[in-house]
Amino acid sequence: MVNKERYHSDPEYRERKLAEHRDWQRRNIERVREHNRRYRERHREEIKARRKAKYASDPELRRRVRERARKWALENPERYRENMRIGSRAYYLRNRDLVVSRLAIKRAREQVIDRLGARCECCGETIREFLTIDHRNRDGGEHRRKFHNKPYQIYMSILREGCPTDKYQVLCMNCNFATRYGEPCPHAKHELERLALMVKT
Ligand SMILES: [Zn+2]
Ligand SMILES: [Zn+2]
Repeated sequence: MVNKERYHSDPEYRERKLAEHRDWQRRNIERVREHNRRYRERHREEIKARRKAKYASDPELRRRVRERARKWALENPERYRENMRIGSRAYYLRNRDLVVSRLAIKRAREQVIDRLGARCECCGETIREFLTIDHRNRDGGEHRRKFHNKPYQIYMSILREGCPTDKYQVLCMNCNFATRYGEPCPHAKHELERLALMVKT
């Protein structure tokens, strides 16, 4: 048993106890290994996070890791190539939208706009550069979050749904912006004023 108080106050006692402990570990190497393995298993996420933080904050460690990786790649060219192949697939899956070309994103967007009539539902604007896709039920934020703000995924999900017009509509930038907090578009007010004038004259 270790006397805690003495352990902290008596360096000689501490040294002796540590030596005893190391000796015990040497004699029970299998138990120690098993214990460490279980510890790592239980604290896997913690350990990972700690390592990540250390890697991010320690340039010297980053340099050593890169150096070791470079050396390993030179010594294991076949396995290195295989890992790169698997890695680029994993990268693709993680960052699909970065990899999806701008052209593909534009095409998906154009398809949605066409299916929704390609014309501002409020003011009739048809110049494509001005057109946006509006979430009628004001759940655009939620929709974007669901697809991690990846435009291609968002457009494709709308296409998969079949572009239902009760959920989505085309609005021009002006009309979309003016109605973003749920208030009616100023166009509606101006239209009423115009009608009122027509009645008077
Ligand atoms: Zn408009
Ligand atoms: Zn409008």
